[in-house]
Amino acid sequence: MINVTKTYLPPLEEYQAYIQGIWERNQLTNNGPLVQELEHQLKEYLGVKHCIYVSNGTIALQIALKVLNITKEVITTPFSYCATSHSIIWENCTPIFADISADDFCIDPEKVEALINENTEAILATHVYGNPCEVDKLAAIAQKHNIKLIYDAAHAFGVKVQGTSLFNFGDISTCSFHSTKVFHSTEGGAIFTNDDQLAYLIDSYRSFGHKGDTYNTIGINAKNSEFHAAMGLCVLPKVIEIIDARKKIFQLYDSLLNWDKLVKPVLKTSFERNYAYYPVFFESEEVLLAVKKALETEDIFPRRYFYPSLSTLKFVTEQSNCPISDDFAPRALALPLYYDLAHADVERISKIINKTIS
Ligand SMILES: *Cc1c(COP(=O)(O)O)cnc(C)c1O
Repeated sequence: MINVTKTYLPPLEEYQAYIQGIWERNQLTNNGPLVQELEHQLKEYLGVKHCIYVSNGTIALQIALKVLNITKEVITTPFSYCATSHSIIWENCTPIFADISADDFCIDPEKVEALINENTEAILATHVYGNPCEVDKLAAIAQKHNIKLIYDAAHAFGVKVQGTSLFNFGDISTCSFHSTKVFHSTEGGAIFTNDDQLAYLIDSYRSFGHKGDTYNTIGINAKNSEFHAAMGLCVLPKVIEIIDARKKIFQLYDSLLNWDKLVKPVLKTSFERNYAYYPVFFESEEVLLAVKKALETEDIFPRRYFYPSLSTLKFVTEQSNCPISDDFAPRALALPLYYDLAHADVERISKIINKTIS
């Protein structure tokens, strides 16, 4: 069976060596040494100032909204995983959807600016598929209107633009380290900021708002465990290899698929990629469903990333006008892509797709 992704698992002995230490120390959570070591290594690897490791990428978004005091409208993308807009609604804010660019499927800065009003407090944009948003334009808009800029960078681990980690952009960037992502720690996530004051508060929020007997603020429990950090520490040294293997598979799909009948993202600037997803867009949802069925018959399971367009979900109250997202989401399919997917399987998948669409 071939799924859209497959979790990288380190050699069992490597993980066990860390687990041995957990047994010796008898500390399983509460900012233990492995959590601290993982944060340290992530900061080094990524070249970021603050990295606050949390239990998942969704709580990371919730804390980002909370710590920036966002309570009203947040302009966001309809073309992302549901965690992006769910976290806004969960925090009692209102998502306002700005349509995406038909080239790279990230939020369109012009559409964002057109939606800003006196209730707008933040932009929450996703670097969808690991392709960077137009970070300079969005920063200029946020600054001009004095609103906050948050990036859901769940897909962006290892991506660099302008020579620096994509996590360095915005007031806050968040990432997910879920097992399906390029870098993972079983479950997990992180919050990145260059602002010392914000980092201090986020650290408090992660752990009930208190340090010892001193209560600074309210907080939540967003801590992650030593077991999760251990997995992260095993996976991190392999990330470069994992990304490189993904790149080869990515390029093979590029060379094999019939581009007369398919669309793929058109990238706007040059950047260091992480090959997080391999999305293709079919001529219609009908064709997509036919391809999906043909692949499933062969035990191959791609995923409809990202469908449906979040602006069409029933718990969204504000009307939105996102024809590009509404048009592309039903036609989007992420093909299998992971570090040890056999090149022969990529050929087989490409052949089935080409045959079905021709
Ligand atoms: C995976 C993902 C998340 C959520 O991350 P979890 O760690 O699963 O909570 C958020 N946003 C996007 C765009 C994602 O792909």
